[in-house]
Amino acid sequence: MMKKVKLAKDRCDKSPFCRAKRACPVGAIEFKKTGFFSGEINVNAEKCIGCGKCIAACPHGALRF
Ligand code: SF4
Repeated sequence: MMKKVKLAKDRCDKSPFCRAKRACPVGAIEFKKTGFFSGEINVNAEKCIGCGKCIAACPHGALRF
């Protein structure tokens, strides 16, 4: 079974400029705006190919296998 990445929401700073989002080659990391200055990050497990690029890119260690 392919590894999928999991997001630790307590570590995520929910930035619209998420580096992990930019690093993902398949667009599996999605930012959803929830307010004027707020939003949340979600990993779309259907799209994730388990490459691990987001793990290396996240400065908060919020993404893990
Ligand atoms: S492991 Fe790779 S494909 Fe999966 S969310 Fe992270 S960067 Fe995207």
